[in-house]
Amino acid sequence: MSERTLETLSFDNTYARLPEAFYARLNPTPFNSPPYLIHANQLAAELIDLAPEQVTRPEFAELFGGNVLAPGMEPLAMLYSGHQFGVYVPQLGDGRAVLLGEATNERGQRWDLHLKGAGMTPFSRDGDGRAVLRSSIREYLCCAAMQGLGIPTTQALCLVGSDDKVYREQVETGAMLVRMAPSHVRFGTFEVCYYRKQYEHLRTLADYVIDQHFPYLRNVDGKYAKFFTEVVERTAQLIAQWQAVGWAHGVMNTDNMSILGLTLDYGPYGFMDDYDAGFICNHSDHNGRYAFNQQPYIGLWNLSCLAQALLPLAEKEALKAGLETYQPLFEREYQKRMRAKLGLVETRPTDEELVRDFLGLLQGSHVDYTIVFRELGTFSSAKDGRNDSLRDQFLNRERFDEWASRYRDRLRSEDSRDDERRGRMNRVNPKYVLRNYLAQLAIEKAQQKDFSEIDRLFMVLQTPFAEQPAMESYALPPPNWGKHLAVSCSS
Ligand code: AMP
Ligand code: MG
Repeated sequence: MSERTLETLSFDNTYARLPEAFYARLNPTPFNSPPYLIHANQLAAELIDLAPEQVTRPEFAELFGGNVLAPGMEPLAMLYSGHQFGVYVPQLGDGRAVLLGEATNERGQRWDLHLKGAGMTPFSRDGDGRAVLRSSIREYLCCAAMQGLGIPTTQALCLVGSDDKVYREQVETGAMLVRMAPSHVRFGTFEVCYYRKQYEHLRTLADYVIDQHFPYLRNVDGKYAKFFTEVVERTAQLIAQWQAVGWAHGVMNTDNMSILGLTLDYGPYGFMDDYDAGFICNHSDHNGRYAFNQQPYIGLWNLSCLAQALLPLAEKEALKAGLETYQPLFEREYQKRMRAKLGLVETRPTDEELVRDFLGLLQGSHVDYTIVFRELGTFSSAKDGRNDSLRDQFLNRERFDEWASRYRDRLRSEDSRDDERRGRMNRVNPKYVLRNYLAQLAIEKAQQKDFSEIDRLFMVLQTPFAEQPAMESYALPPPNWGKHLAVSCSS
């Protein structure tokens, strides 16, 4: 039941019970100018039983803008390290975020409330501890987009703005974002214990995570390796979903990999417009380490870093066996999702080729990934069926015709009915995704203090599979200016 007030939210912080080595206790640093609410996510509020009208109270922005604390919160910055662009960095940690505490709901679930942009911490290195409005909007909206798409993600509870200046390449304003997850533990949280040779802490952390999030493994033999195998599975499933929807994370460092298999830390991410297997969304990623088609492999690479960090707790062979489940599992999940995107119900040996060839066609003709899959739902499998508007999207019509004829045969071979198939496909092929240019438009308006575009985009993205006739323009391909916007780690 969502009926708690801000005053009756229930907070605890089990992470603060762990040894002090895992974090630094500190309160958020408020902005100098008063925080104001830009947007709140009611679905996320529901997860902590917060009544809908609570978000409009001035006290809400005070609390989640870091000005005041609620009883039971024990704010802290979490310590972690990680491999950044393949290189081990011995200390990272929450440099600009604070784990406020865990809100518990009536169903006994715990939600970490993590305030991002909350000021300097002992882990800030050269940073100022702040997040700019621009990047906070991007994270906020993409969390909502992923939530709408059904892809595991941290949730964003609210976006709070301020008039405080924050200095990046240019002067911007600051914002804070509250994100929620059952846990914000990362691969890098394990790595820091391992590389500091704090093996007892490593065990404490693993036991804590298992106890809280994998309770069915508590008393199982070889529980650490089994826990690892679970992380492998969740990661494979997550990345299969990213690949199917055409989304790139942009900075898949091990400190940005959630131990629960959630999409975590939104920076220079991107939904593809025109299909390009080698799509690099992060302007700072000069070598394309985190290019779209590298993500499945990077997932494995990151998992091997986690396996390494767990060596003091588990048999090497058992960890290796866990790692080896990744590739087949990823393939199976990915193919399953791509078959569904083509509207196929049965599984045939030639399906992989059908998928691959379709992607090849998209690449060759620079076809918009989201639009073409949605439109494929209208494909006529009748012998004399015409598919002109689909066909017109391809430069090489002959190759399209050749593929379409195979697709038609394949559909007919499982007695697919076009109308039914279309319904099925529309439930897996979104009409609306958070294209970079749409986020950019919302950002530019917000920088002028007009938040209406955030409201609108948020609404559209909550039901990305539904037809929203009044919102058709949000399903269009980007205009020329919006095709190759540069997004980088600067945030
Ligand atoms: P990210 O690339 O956002 O995942 O951040 C990598 C690391 O840099 C993390 O430890 C962050 O906490 C830290 N960091 C990023 N931006 C800032 C900032 N403005 N101030 C302090 N630390 C930051
Ligand atoms: Mg990060």
